[in-house]
Amino acid sequence: CLYNELIELKGNIRVFCRCRPLTLEEASKGYSSVLELDPSQDMELQIVCTDSSRKKFRFDHVFGPLDNQEAVFAETVPVVRSALDGYNVCIFAYGQTGTGKTYTMEGTSEDRGVNYRALGELFQSSMKRCSTMKYEFSISMLEVYNEKIRDLLAENSDQHAKRLEIKQTADGTQDVPGLVEAPVNSVDEVWSMLKTGGRNRSVGSTNANELSSRSHCLVRVIIKSENMLNGHQCRSNMWLVDLAGSERVGKIEVEGERLKESQFINKSLSALGDVISALASRNPHIPYRNSKLTHLLQSSLGGDCKTLMFVQISPSTADLGETLCSLNFATRVR
Ligand code: ADP
Ligand code: MG
Repeated sequence: CLYNELIELKGNIRVFCRCRPLTLEEASKGYSSVLELDPSQDMELQIVCTDSSRKKFRFDHVFGPLDNQEAVFAETVPVVRSALDGYNVCIFAYGQTGTGKTYTMEGTSEDRGVNYRALGELFQSSMKRCSTMKYEFSISMLEVYNEKIRDLLAENSDQHAKRLEIKQTADGTQDVPGLVEAPVNSVDEVWSMLKTGGRNRSVGSTNANELSSRSHCLVRVIIKSENMLNGHQCRSNMWLVDLAGSERVGKIEVEGERLKESQFINKSLSALGDVISALASRNPHIPYRNSKLTHLLQSSLGGDCKTLMFVQISPSTADLGETLCSLNFATRVR
């Protein structure tokens, strides 16, 4: 049997841009769209600046307001399949709060996102593959908030509060001892588990939505395979990451706890940008250790690993500044 499928990936790092629709509320406030798309060009977008000049950006794919979850997943699926072939994979959603990071990754119960579809694809493809291959899947879910790691699948709140640390294992990869690894066999099981984990994010906060925009939420899928003919075993990770909001908060607007949070977020997002751009430029030194986020993902970023970053943007004139920041960030990592 040959397990390797033809993978469309050219390099190991792909960057997709996704722009959400303008909301009715934005339209009613008089905001309009800064986005210009050429229907014959799915790799480019133009942003109309305040002085009416245009800034052009290129990506591996651009999804406009009319592209649905299915269209997005159709472009994502090669990366997901490579996880079954034994590659470590990371899929991120980056962007300002309110631009659709959670919509893309998690989705809604009517319009499920990448996390759910990716697991569905893993279950389906693994069944279609050679009958001498045995696959097992398990998931972990964790949150990085103020550089602290919390287990979102732990049973009780004592365990949620427990601080988890990253340890280097004997084979040189990173692990988080004590993190729950729940075996999963069906997409329904995955969906309810991700929902439970999502609810655990809000512990200790009065406003769940607010907290979720200030922490990184990571789902790790562990894929174990065994070739029944020769006993060859393989283990790979697929990380699905809903990053904290990338918006800048001015020192004047915030102080205390909120300022500390935003400094942690800035630090970890720029650490992520540094790692990906060092990888993209084949720099021999990759600064993984500068944040918990990049340290956690160390063995799934770089080398043979496949990385996909969704840069989420808002079309609204009101968000132009943040949109340009996100697009510039994406240009740096590409
Ligand atoms: P974020 O996680 O980046 O803060 P959300 O995913 O919560 O943003 O999205 C903000 C709102 O916009 C949600 O109500 C979401 O359902 C909606 N939304 C985001 N992207 C899209 C899209 N492509 N199509 C339709 N609705 C979207
Ligand atoms: Mg969100």
